[in-house]
Amino acid sequence: MRFSAVNAATSDAVRFDHTSLEPGSSPPPGPLKNPDTGDIIAERIRFQYLPRIRCNDCPKKAYNAVRGNVETEFEKHLKNRLHRAAVEERLDEEKRKATGKKERAR
Ligand SMILES: [Zn+2]
Repeated sequence: MRFSAVNAATSDAVRFDHTSLEPGSSPPPGPLKNPDTGDIIAERIRFQYLPRIRCNDCPKKAYNAVRGNVETEFEKHLKNRLHRAAVEERLDEEKRKATGKKERAR
């Protein structure tokens, strides 16, 4: 889980640096604006914990579960070269262990 700011109306995650706020404080009142363009990102924001996905083969990385396209985003990870290399390494290790056990049984 990651502590995140979300649009209060849509529950979509919005980029907001909450580290500058006092611990336990409420989200700032009023609309959240893009500091570069001045465009309104959300009329009102609230804070909540959002779930994250951790791949068993890539334990160092965690992915935000973005509402609506969790499967699509994680599918991209499954096609990632580093992920596939980690899977190959695990399968090789499992194969080595399995063959080692058979040889010891003889
Ligand atoms: Zn992975």
